[in-house]
Amino acid sequence: MNIQRPRGTNDILPEETGKWQFVEAKIRELCRRYGYQEIRTPVFEHTELFVRGIGEATDIVEKEMYAFTDRSGRSLALRPEGTAGVVRAFVEHRLDARSLPVKLYYLGPMFRYEKPQAGRYRQFAQFGVEAIGSIDPFLDVEMIMLPIELYRACGLDGFQVQVNSIGCPKCRVQYREALLKHLGANVDQFCPNCRRRIERNPLRVLDCKEEKCRALVGQVPLITDYLCLECADHFQQVKEYLDQLGIDYVLNPQLVRGLDYYTKTVFEITVPTLGAQNAIGAGGRYDGLVEEVGGKPLPAVGYAVGLERLLLALDQQAGRYYEEPRPDAYVAHFGGVTKAKAVEIVTDLRRRGLWVEMDYLGRSLKAQMKSADKLGCRSAVIIGESELERQIVKVRHMATGDEQDVKLDQIAAYLTADREEHGA
Ligand code: ATP
Ligand code: MG
Repeated sequence: MNIQRPRGTNDILPEETGKWQFVEAKIRELCRRYGYQEIRTPVFEHTELFVRGIGEATDIVEKEMYAFTDRSGRSLALRPEGTAGVVRAFVEHRLDARSLPVKLYYLGPMFRYEKPQAGRYRQFAQFGVEAIGSIDPFLDVEMIMLPIELYRACGLDGFQVQVNSIGCPKCRVQYREALLKHLGANVDQFCPNCRRRIERNPLRVLDCKEEKCRALVGQVPLITDYLCLECADHFQQVKEYLDQLGIDYVLNPQLVRGLDYYTKTVFEITVPTLGAQNAIGAGGRYDGLVEEVGGKPLPAVGYAVGLERLLLALDQQAGRYYEEPRPDAYVAHFGGVTKAKAVEIVTDLRRRGLWVEMDYLGRSLKAQMKSADKLGCRSAVIIGESELERQIVKVRHMATGDEQDVKLDQIAAYLTADREEHGA
């Protein structure tokens, strides 16, 4: 039997997990400084939550959800995104009783039934942040700043920030009309998806990735010309804060998002060199969602970063962006009493915080040195019988081949000093 991983999923092999841990450490450090606390919600929820939250007429809900019926007939779905679950938990646990805004972050796998390709998978990881309970436009700016700071901390540059406001349901009534009037003339020329969108949710047409649809929407009326006073003022303040803080961005009045819950500010961050799947993060304000999910009407804003795409972008950019940790020492032995001593030394060194490897296969010294090299060990501690009689071991520097006698009770101190000198 030859079973392979499901299409669109990835195995992250040990040589890759270091990168993930590097980015995850940056994320946790960033969230600490900005005062966001981690929340962990289930990877599956009632399907209804996503239908209500993300919106019935969205690609995610219509085409991309892993929804299933469990053994007692409930309709459940693997989460396609993180916000709906976080907001559900916020309402369920009455977090609105806490000091507002409540600032949360999450990190974990999301699932969408999409056509797998570079940077687009069926299981992918997102890091996201939500701030619930404030309408302050500075919070929108904080949301744009957070992913930028993360990318920078990871060593990424060359990304572009696009910002727009898609207004509130009030502004959209008039805009929708203007948009429909404009699109109506060419309805037949749009892709089948867009034809459906025009009927159900015309704003979404602006998000279509098909060339011919993109060309057709060219001269479309712009949502920013239809913002109500409140939304226009909010957007103005967002732009002023962005300018004040020297954040580079471009206004893209055609930017909309694939989820229905967004209001006012939306943004997307792209890395042009990534090709078709170039968005490495996106977010915006969602002032209607908390109420939609059954809570008090509370404004909120958030974003999500796709970690696979961030890693692809980092890999693309020259240079090592993280330090691969390597073992401090390989303890080599010749079996018998030397193995007995090796076991003792290995255990002691590990308890003292060193990363120590040893032979478990009864190999020759030559083979043991080869594996010490392969593992990237800084030193080898060689325990021979005659040395043991003199209460010493040989320590070999793998890079230079230099050997030195070290007293048994000095090994830990010796290796620790060496580690400090030559990097962890
Ligand atoms: P796209 O337009 O590329 O489909 P999206 O608008 O559907 O992205 P969001 O729902 O905003 O994406 O999710 C936020 C981020 O999650 C994206 O910017 C991207 O980095 C990542 N992402 C979304 N879908 C996938 C996927 N199928 N595989 C890998 N990463 C993804
Ligand atoms: Mg998508």
